[in-house]
Amino acid sequence: MSSPSIVWFRDDLRLADNPALRAAIDRDEPIIALYLLDEESPDMRPLGGAARWWLHHSLVSLGERIAERGGQLILRRGAAADVVPQLVTDTGAGAVFWNRRYGGPGRTVDADLKASLRDDGVEVASFAASVLFEPWTVTTGSGTHFSVFTPFWKACQALPSPRAPLPEPRELAGPGRRVASDDLDDWALLPTRPDWAGGLRETWEPGEPAARARLREFLRTDLDDYSRGRDEPARDVTSRLSPRLRWGEISPYTVWHETVETGGGAKFLSEVGWREFAWHTLYHFPDLATKNLRPEFDAFPWPRLEPTHLEAWQRGETGVALVDAGMKELWHSGIMHNRVRMVTASFLIKNLMIDWRHGEEWFWDCLVDADEASNPFSWQWVAGSGADAAPYFRVFNPELQREKFDKHDEYVRRWAPEHLDGGAPEPIVDLKASRNAALDAYEKVKRTP
Ligand code: FAD
Repeated sequence: MSSPSIVWFRDDLRLADNPALRAAIDRDEPIIALYLLDEESPDMRPLGGAARWWLHHSLVSLGERIAERGGQLILRRGAAADVVPQLVTDTGAGAVFWNRRYGGPGRTVDADLKASLRDDGVEVASFAASVLFEPWTVTTGSGTHFSVFTPFWKACQALPSPRAPLPEPRELAGPGRRVASDDLDDWALLPTRPDWAGGLRETWEPGEPAARARLREFLRTDLDDYSRGRDEPARDVTSRLSPRLRWGEISPYTVWHETVETGGGAKFLSEVGWREFAWHTLYHFPDLATKNLRPEFDAFPWPRLEPTHLEAWQRGETGVALVDAGMKELWHSGIMHNRVRMVTASFLIKNLMIDWRHGEEWFWDCLVDADEASNPFSWQWVAGSGADAAPYFRVFNPELQREKFDKHDEYVRRWAPEHLDGGAPEPIVDLKASRNAALDAYEKVKRTP
C-alpha cells in the first residue's frame, strides 16, 4: 500500500527550486500537490482584487505543469487545520511537506498543524524557500534583530552564500486514482461585473515559465542599466519580478545565483535585500500592517479623513501630474514603479494628511505584487514610522520629482496625458501649504518621549 506525500503549495507556485516538492520526490511515494485557499484561519488577511486575479492564473499554469508531469493539482478551500488533516485521512498520506512562511497568522497555523499531524504519526517537514536568509539567522552582535538596512544587508552577506537552486522535476507521479478537487472557477477569483482586469491581462502573463523568461531577459538586457536607470519610471529597466517573487513563481535563490553568475548586479541584489529586510521586520513585528513600528507615531494628529481627497488620490485625479500618472498606472496594470510609489505615498500621507493605513489598504487591493511584508513595510518607511524609515520631515515634492525623474514627461504622457493637454483638474491641495501643515503636525510626534 502506498503512503502518498502531500506537498502543500502556498506562496511558492513553482516546480523549480521547491524544497518541499523535492522532499516529496526523495521520499519516493506518490505525490499529492495541494493548493489551499485559506480565508478562514484566524487573522488571515484576505487577498486583494489584483492578487486574486494573479493567483487564479498562476494556479492554472501550475496545474498544467503538474499535469504535464503526470500529477494533479488538488484545490481545496477552508481552514488549513481542517482541510489538511482531512486530506491526509482521505488519501492515507504518510507525509506532508511545505515551504515556510513568516507572517504571524501563517506561522501560527503551520506550527499548530505540524504538532497535530506529528501527534497523528504523520511525517511533517518544512523548508526555507521564499527568503534567502531566514529571520532568526541574521542578528546583531548582541543577538537582536536589525532595524537599519545597511548593517542588516552586510550581516546577510557575511553569512554563507544562499544554497544553489534545486532542479525542476521531470515527473510527478500522483496516487493513481483521482483525488477530489474544487473547480478553480468556483473560487471566483476573477472579477466579473465589471471585469476590470483588461489592463492586467494586457500587462502580465502569470506563471513560472514567464517568470523564468523575464529573469533571463532582465539579466541580458537591463541589468547593466539598472543602477543608472532604476529611478526613471518611463524607462523599463527594473526587473518587474516583484509579483513573481510575491507568488513564488521564481525563487530568490534562482534570482540570486543567476545574477551573481553575470559578475555584476550588486545594486539589484541589494534591492532584493530590501525584500528580505521587509520579511524579517514582519517576522519580528507581525502587526506591521496595522500598528506603527515606532510607537511615538501613535501621537500623530491625523485630521478627520476627507473622503473626497482619498477618492481623488485613488482615481488619479489629484491634479498633480506624477501622482495621477502613478495611480492610473496602478489601476490599469496592477503595478507602479518604485519611485512613483514613494511619491504617491508621500503625497497621500504628507500633503493630504491621510493615515498611511488607508494607502496601504488601497495598494493591497490593487497591486499584483501586494505582499504581506513589503507593502506595509514600505508604507511605514514613507510615513517615517517604520524600520530605517525616511524621516517624516522628508516630504517628496511631486513636481520636483517629476522634473528630476521624468524630465521629458514620458511617464506622465503614458499614464496621465490630460496633464499635458490642459485637461487635468486643478491640484486638490496647495503643495507648499500642505507640506507646512504636515511638518507642524509632526512636531507632536517629536515632542512625544
Ligand atoms: P526591482 O528594482 O527590479 O527589484 C528587484 C526585486 O527586489 C523586486 O522585484 C522586489 O521583490 C524587491 N524590491 C525592490 N525594491 C524593494 C523595496 N523597496 N522593498 C522591498 N522589496 C523591494 N514591493 C512588493 O514586492 N510588494 C509590495 O506590496 C510593495 N509595496 C510597496 C509600497 C510602497 C508605498 C512602496 C514605496 C514600495 C513598495 N514595494 C513593494 C517595493 C517596490 O516598490 C517594488 O518591489 C518594486 O517597485 C518592484 O519592481 P521591480 O520588480 O521591477 O523591482
